[in-house]
Amino acid sequence: MAGLALAADATNTRPQTLGKLLALSREETDAVGNVGKTYRWAVSPYYLSLINPQDPQDPVKKMCIPQAAELMDETGTDDPMAEEFTSPVPAVTRRYPDRLIIKVTNQCAMYCRHCQRRRLIGEVDRATPRVQLRQALDYVRKNEEIRDVLLTGGDALLLNDELLDWLLGELDAIPHVEIKRIGTRTLVTMPMRITDRLYKIIDRHGPIYINTQFNHPLEITPDVEAACRKLVRTGAALGNQAVLLSGVNNDPHVMKKLNHLLLKCMIRPYYIFHAKAVKGTAHFRTKVEEGIAIMEQLRGYTSGLAIPTFIVNAPGGYGKIPMLPEYLVSYAPGKIMIRTWENRILPYDN
Ligand SMILES: *Cc1c(COP(=O)(O)O)cnc(C)c1O
Repeated sequence: MAGLALAADATNTRPQTLGKLLALSREETDAVGNVGKTYRWAVSPYYLSLINPQDPQDPVKKMCIPQAAELMDETGTDDPMAEEFTSPVPAVTRRYPDRLIIKVTNQCAMYCRHCQRRRLIGEVDRATPRVQLRQALDYVRKNEEIRDVLLTGGDALLLNDELLDWLLGELDAIPHVEIKRIGTRTLVTMPMRITDRLYKIIDRHGPIYINTQFNHPLEITPDVEAACRKLVRTGAALGNQAVLLSGVNNDPHVMKKLNHLLLKCMIRPYYIFHAKAVKGTAHFRTKVEEGIAIMEQLRGYTSGLAIPTFIVNAPGGYGKIPMLPEYLVSYAPGKIMIRTWENRILPYDN
């Protein structure tokens, strides 16, 4: 997979290649080189092809091409969710009683400019060593309350087929693991990763839930539809975890369109995440109110199926918190006041 990525390298010539392909200005090309010294970049040729070079505000471009703003962020921190402090064994993050995350690689098919785990993206691609994976599996085995194991990274589908097959098989063999989840952006950035071999692996190890991260309608292409059709035939359930990004999707119409297109691909909108204060991503951050306004303009206006939950991650690793418009206006003995999607305030016997 690494061979497919158009990556920064020591000769520092590749920003020029990118500049030519996208008709970048001299400043933009220099920014790619400069930012690349601090924050790694790589774009799959497929994802690059979704950019319209004529559009200076192209949302796909904003998500994958480094901008000077990444180096001007004085506010964020590297690990606002304190994932490193909720890690009982290497590669595992556990924050909840019945489920946990195993980080299986630090590699991705594309390094998102808004990445929330950019602290883990190094110069070197590294699948989590087999000894650490075994430690993680032992931890799951010993803790019988874990019923849901989420493989993520990096991008869990950047693992090679053999390793993925082995890992899923090991999890199948643990009786209390009821479901497995795979976190991957390859459906968005490299849909050709969904090969016939991968199809067979996913098919073999159900029940599997695959969560991906589409952020903009332009990311949904015929290649994506084909990959989703294939995955759905395995019985896998597909979900989307969008990130609310300024200048990309902080607009109710864009979000509604995205969710409609996802449902056509059999992907259920699951979460919209408020962008956390990760260093180098300040230019993407929105106000929480923008997310709540989007939720307000989905409920009632479109199918409940197209409405995800808007989430703020508590600082310090204390978990996901849903942010909702207020529909319960007031309490009184025996009666509450409720607000409808059309803003009617009505009494309701309680
Ligand atoms: C998000 C997350 C999960 C999964 O949470 P769900 O709300 O069940 O999707 C599990 N563990 C950690 C540490 C998480 O951050």
